[in-house]
Amino acid sequence: MSKIDFLADELDALREQGLFNVIRTIDGPQGAWFVVDGKRVLNLCSNNYLGFANNPRLKEAAKAAIDRFGVGPGAVRTIAGTQTIHLELEKKLAEFKHAQACIVLQAGFTANLAVIPTITGEGDLIFSDELNHASIIDGCRLSKARVIRYAHNDVEDLRKKIEESKGSARRMLIVTDGVFSMDGDIAPLPEIVEVADEFGAMVMVDDAHGEGVLGDSGRGIVNYFGLEGKVEIEVGTLSKAFGVMGGYVTGPEVLISYLKQRGRPFLFSTGLTPADTAAAIAAVDVLLESDELVKKLWSNARYFQDGLKKAGFDTGKTQTPITPVMLGDEKVASEFSKELFARGIFAQSISYPTVPRGKARIRCMLSAAHEKQDLDFALEKFTEVGKELGVLK
Ligand SMILES: *Cc1c(COP(=O)(O)O)cnc(C)c1O
Repeated sequence: MSKIDFLADELDALREQGLFNVIRTIDGPQGAWFVVDGKRVLNLCSNNYLGFANNPRLKEAAKAAIDRFGVGPGAVRTIAGTQTIHLELEKKLAEFKHAQACIVLQAGFTANLAVIPTITGEGDLIFSDELNHASIIDGCRLSKARVIRYAHNDVEDLRKKIEESKGSARRMLIVTDGVFSMDGDIAPLPEIVEVADEFGAMVMVDDAHGEGVLGDSGRGIVNYFGLEGKVEIEVGTLSKAFGVMGGYVTGPEVLISYLKQRGRPFLFSTGLTPADTAAAIAAVDVLLESDELVKKLWSNARYFQDGLKKAGFDTGKTQTPITPVMLGDEKVASEFSKELFARGIFAQSISYPTVPRGKARIRCMLSAAHEKQDLDFALEKFTEVGKELGVLK
């Protein structure tokens, strides 16, 4: 017996509960179609909203950056790892988001760990939507602040919780995802800001699924609601619509200056590679020049969602290109996904514990990379499988 063997029991337990994750392997770049475990399938699973992950202009920018700056930054940003392109990307993102300043981190996940524990601590209260992303939850845990969860997108519950607990607080922070990734619904940010202003709480929004999707040219949820200057902290990712990898925080100059002094992932972990940085700059440039891809994403999403509804499917409460096909039963959802795969469509089922029991679904992610004939193909196959499994009459 080795000391690490207890993990074999843990893995067995996951398998028994049906929670063991079989990780699929993609051979080649992201796109409307790709090769999964050797089979060419239509891709309805990626966060590559604008098709940037394999965009020629981004790839050219990455290659040129390698020739000019090498492959690695060589040190953490605060010692000798800030290259001119890092500052160029931060300036460009601040401009894009209409914010005063920006700090780029290694991932969206890391960005939440860089901001939440750095600006809150003992004696502070954090009000967090119950469906917030894992990286927000971990950031809150690291902060030593008291975390109070409020009911999902429920501003009345948020107000009640603030009223009940505000007496004890040094400072208060309200934190929410902008777009919720499992249902595709949008946080009621104007009402959240109103409540925040009433009680003097700061507001932070994690716009990972809103950038490149919502607002003017994909500027995100704050722009979409006309709240620029009224939300203290915006967290973003370069790994979804931007198609590359990395994360960032935008906001007032003082916030960003402070994060560059005290944000631990910025101080103690090396920054983005030159290739990633240059590709991200090119992505923002494409969006600053034209909103064509954002428009195509939305027209694809509407077309596909309308088609599903016409066929008789329930797409839940989505307000964005995230398209859940609600099936309810966990076994039906998993069978549905398998049948789709056999017919050339990669769309994964999502079940408990990622979503509540009895709310299993197939989650489809739309992209500007899809063409109308791809979506027609998907609608035909969804309908076929829906009838076969008795989901549709
Ligand atoms: C995906 C996601 C992240 C993590 O972003 P990465 O850049 O992949 O680390 C953070 N927050 C939310 C809300 C997300 O959906």
